[in-house]
This record gives sequence, C-alpha cells and structure tokens, in this order.
Amino acid sequence: MSVLNELYQQVILDHNKSPRNFRVMEGATKHVEGYNPLCGDHYTVYVKLDGDQIVDVSFEGAGCAISKASASVMSAMVKNHTVAEAEELFRDFHRLVKGELAGEEELERLGKLAAFAGVSEFPARVKCASLAWHTLHSALNTNETSISTE
Ligand code: ZN
Repeated sequence: MSVLNELYQQVILDHNKSPRNFRVMEGATKHVEGYNPLCGDHYTVYVKLDGDQIVDVSFEGAGCAISKASASVMSAMVKNHTVAEAEELFRDFHRLVKGELAGEEELERLGKLAAFAGVSEFPARVKCASLAWHTLHSALNTNETSISTE
C-alpha cells in the first residue's frame, strides 16, 4: 500500500470513529433523509442557511464506515461556504468516485475528499460514499424530504 493510500485510509478511519458535526440540528433551514437500501446506510442531513451561505451542517443516523466518514468530511467541507461552492464540491466528488478525476493537481485541490478516490474501484461502495452528498444536494435544491439511492 502506498503512503498516499495509507493517508487516505487514516482519514476514513478517523472520520468514522469521530464523525464531525454528528448531531441533530435545532432550527435547521432544511433537513433531508437519505437512504441507501443496498447497504442499509440511513442518515438525515441538516443545513442552516443565511441567504446563500451555509452557516451550519450536521447529520445523524447510521451506516457503514465509508458512508459515515463521507458524511463527516462533507459536513466539514461545505460549512461556511456558499450553496454554489457546495454544489461545485458535489460535482467534483461525483467525478472522483466515478474515477473521472485524475492527476495529482486535481486530487490535491480536493483535500480530504481525495480520501474517497479508491471507492471508484468498488461500484457498490460508490453509493455509500455519495449518499450524504446526494442528500445535501437534495436539501439545497429541492423540496423533497427524503431520497433513496435506488
Ligand atoms: Zn454503506
């Protein structure tokens, strides 16, 4: 295993063990429930908006290590960013887990998100890694209250 892979592994282990922003949010602007029936991952993502600024993000629920770590990294990355910036990260993440992002420069720009690059080799895990992002996307763009990856 390369040093980079080990580093990525550490990010996932750390965020699974101590997830950031793992709580129910009072007074959220929106919350959406996301479900991945393939694996059983089930989370609610909460967002608090001030105009187009995401002032707070949190999530709660349960699922596999990849889904929980991904939700944790997602919450830490989009907090204090605009909706448009979060959507750009969502698109980058989507390309990353589909194996469409390459080159160290692009991976470096993604920071901790790049930890999920290896998921692209395991199609079933792509849904685990993407669940929180799809749920956030739904919260920011639709009036739906729940989504499913199926
Ligand atoms: Zn999963």
